[in-house]
Amino acid sequence: MPATRIQLTDDLSFSTLIHGYWRLTEWGYTDKQVEELLMKGVDLGVTTIDHADIYGDYECEAAFGKVLRDNPGLRDKIELVSKCGIMLKSDKFPDRYVKYYDYSYNHIVQSVENSLSNLKTDRLDALLLHRPSPIYDPQAVARAFEDLKASGMVRYFGVSNFTPQQTETLQSYCSDKLITNQIEISVASLEHFENGNIDYLLQQRMHPMAWSPLAGGKLFGPKVKDYVDLLEVMTKVGRRMETDIVGVMYAWLFKHPVGIMPIIGSSRMDRVEEAVNALELEMSDQDWFLIYQSTLGHEVP
Ligand code: NAP
Repeated sequence: MPATRIQLTDDLSFSTLIHGYWRLTEWGYTDKQVEELLMKGVDLGVTTIDHADIYGDYECEAAFGKVLRDNPGLRDKIELVSKCGIMLKSDKFPDRYVKYYDYSYNHIVQSVENSLSNLKTDRLDALLLHRPSPIYDPQAVARAFEDLKASGMVRYFGVSNFTPQQTETLQSYCSDKLITNQIEISVASLEHFENGNIDYLLQQRMHPMAWSPLAGGKLFGPKVKDYVDLLEVMTKVGRRMETDIVGVMYAWLFKHPVGIMPIIGSSRMDRVEEAVNALELEMSDQDWFLIYQSTLGHEVP
């Protein structure tokens, strides 16, 4: 059975299941409903929360921050992750005429200051660079990381959507070890098994955060016809394991020894609970490969 928490450094652990608030402003929740979702998740052990400056056109962090503002003491029970670097075209920034990335010293520091102010907290447990940029200066990033750490605003740093080479390059400039790479991993997304990332993370003793662990919900929606075979295979596996497709999708991630931390994207408490229940499931090697080969499209060599 996978551990319910994963130790990332001597003094920082994340809950194995993380809750992502990317879609928060789409949920149409009142402040009270956001509070209930967060509190119940924390009660179930889902204490690590994923954000980014840009989520909800720059509005999700502030919507979440109201809960922290109204509940003194809650901040110490959770771990907060945020990201920076993507510069969205948005009505909020009328001067921007192209989507781009900014990893300058000033932008990183300013983005963290904004996130802290929106989230109503004095520190992030981790800051991730949201996407690799073809034009960034790793020295400037390393300097920003050092200053943010020294000021207490950010405890640890990591990356998202980086290849092993990109992670290595940034790491070579940073004094602290990068703690995670947040990447897309699911039964429908095998990219990081193929580009060496999973092997690299194993080698580095780093644990990935998996975004869209249920493939962003697309297996349940109208595009389902693209996944008929995969769904059939998962239904069979689910019967063997006495669970449903969702249980199978989480168990497939939990089985991997790299210690994957899936980021739940759901707005619904029953679905958070379902994810937590999946921690009890055990998948056989053969079932893992049955699902793997279904998405690969062929038997392993
Ligand atoms: P996900 O859990 O794969 O997908 C969540 C979506 O699936 C929601 O719309 C949810 O709807 C739906 N869903 C879940 N269970 C369902 C079911 N049984 N039947 C029908 N629909 C179901 O995760 P995600 O939201 O795509 O991503 C999770 C988190 O990863 C985000 O919140 C964000 O923090 C992070 N992320 C990071 C990056 C990056 O580049 N670093 C990119 C994308 C996402 P309901 O709300 O109705 O349950």
